[in-house]
Amino acid sequence: MPPEPPAIFAADCRACSRLATFLADVRAQHPDYHAAPVPSFGPLTARLLIVGLAPGMHGANATGRPFTGDYAGVLLYETLHAHGFASAPESTRADDGLELIDCRITNAVKCLPPQNKPTTAEIRTCNGFLAAEMAAMQPQVILALGKIAHDAILRAKGLPLSSLRFAHGAEHELDANTLLVDSYHCSRYNTQTRRLTPAMFRDLFARIRRDLG
Ligand code: SF4
Repeated sequence: MPPEPPAIFAADCRACSRLATFLADVRAQHPDYHAAPVPSFGPLTARLLIVGLAPGMHGANATGRPFTGDYAGVLLYETLHAHGFASAPESTRADDGLELIDCRITNAVKCLPPQNKPTTAEIRTCNGFLAAEMAAMQPQVILALGKIAHDAILRAKGLPLSSLRFAHGAEHELDANTLLVDSYHCSRYNTQTRRLTPAMFRDLFARIRRDLG
């Protein structure tokens, strides 16, 4: 029998002990929250993979869907919908019926980290899931939301982190078939300080749409 392919997700993963302990505390405080590793959202056959950082406390960690339930997803889903990658402009709950079209969203780290800051060891530990997901999907375009996501993608491809520099709007050839596009993260901080404006994000998605054809 051929060996099983590496898992792209494990709903009961506790490989990062600090995060597992933190999630147990969060579950005790918020019994109605998902408070567990958050699975990717969207079809594995999609040509576009979007990689964020990690679930937010009252967003993905609460609802169980990436970028859903808090401010970080507002601009993302609006923009996805405007470019034909989502069936609706808003993602409110995991069971709201929204579908992604030719697009999948994941995070570099699948569990909520304290203060939204995973350690380097946690990013490395979770990287096997991202590597397996990228290998299973073979996406044509990968959009990195922020430098941590950019670095996690390089690591998942086995590339030195110094090989491709993160810069908003930069495009890099990850391999002959895959383009890596960098964006500032669509966090509340970045959008409210206008480091990332809706127009900048729209421009990026318009380019991705053109790249995908
Ligand atoms: S962050 Fe990833 S590797 Fe760490 S416990 Fe969660 S799912 Fe497992």
